[in-house]
Amino acid sequence: MQGEFDLIERFFRRGPARADVALGVGDDAALLRPPPGCELVAATDTLVEGVHFPAGTDPAAVGHKALAVNLSDLAAMGAEPRWALLALTLPAADEDWLAAFAAGLEALAREAGVALVGGDTTRGPLAATVTVLGSVPAGQALRRCGARPGDDVWVSGTLGDAALGLAAATGRLELPAAVAAALRARLDRPRPRLALGRRLRGLARACIDVSDGLVADLGHVCRASGVGARIERAALPLSPAAQAALAAGGDPAAPLVGGDDYELLFTAPPWAAAAVAGLGEVARIGTVEAGAGVRIVEPDGSERRLEAGGWDHFRGRP
Ligand code: ADP
Ligand code: MG
Repeated sequence: MQGEFDLIERFFRRGPARADVALGVGDDAALLRPPPGCELVAATDTLVEGVHFPAGTDPAAVGHKALAVNLSDLAAMGAEPRWALLALTLPAADEDWLAAFAAGLEALAREAGVALVGGDTTRGPLAATVTVLGSVPAGQALRRCGARPGDDVWVSGTLGDAALGLAAATGRLELPAAVAAALRARLDRPRPRLALGRRLRGLARACIDVSDGLVADLGHVCRASGVGARIERAALPLSPAAQAALAAGGDPAAPLVGGDDYELLFTAPPWAAAAVAGLGEVARIGTVEAGAGVRIVEPDGSERRLEAGGWDHFRGRP
């Protein structure tokens, strides 16, 4: 791409400095100093225009989200993020777009203390791939495979906001402007739960971030752990904006199957319940049980079951 080096200098040699970066942007590769006694934690995720964000999305939000979705993966592992790399594909060197994108990414990088240590810049359909690297004390990472029957199922924050925001943004749902804006903010600027993830080390038995939707992501935990789970629909935490959107005709399944909320979904033994509740912004939504699959218990006691393949039909009372 023409002016590639100039663009990199102007837009991507930024962000917080870290003592554990021996060499950052500018050479053939970065040199990093992982802390002793830790495991290196690595995750990467791509955002493609028209697939992962609507065309025309505020470039600052794209920059934020490209990093945020990766930080959310590190949060779900209980890891501390340290470094990031950015592979950016652009249709043209649009400086205004780049400046806003870089500013959105940099603001979150500073907040999370992540140094941008390298990347790649190419021409093509708009897509941003971020790789984050971080650390966790050896053996203490939160994984998907540790849930046991009798554990409580917990989730942070609120569910369904991003999916309802997407429905409003794409014209499938008419909402008052303030409600639509609140939901759109959840879609565009997810807040990775980094502090919560670290505090869950030693408390949670299994953890995942909600990117595909509660039922799908809990299904991943159940399969990895060899268990099933029962979720109380009435216990699902909903934001005031989501409640307003549901009252205005939003898909009632959004809190169950809507993706992109980037909350932490985790299980913990009952003895840890007071400590978990004390972390704040968490709700107990169900129980891990022997077996397989996810059961959703409706307020009237009826239930629906999700097997590996997808939704079963409404099953009536258990
Ligand atoms: P190479 O040809 O050796 O891969 P590049 O020309 O792709 O080198 O990149 C030059 C330097 O700029 C490298 O240190 C690379 O990590 C960094 N870099 C390139 N693109 C980006 C980007 N979008 N964000 C951050 N660093 C980047
Ligand atoms: Mg390169």
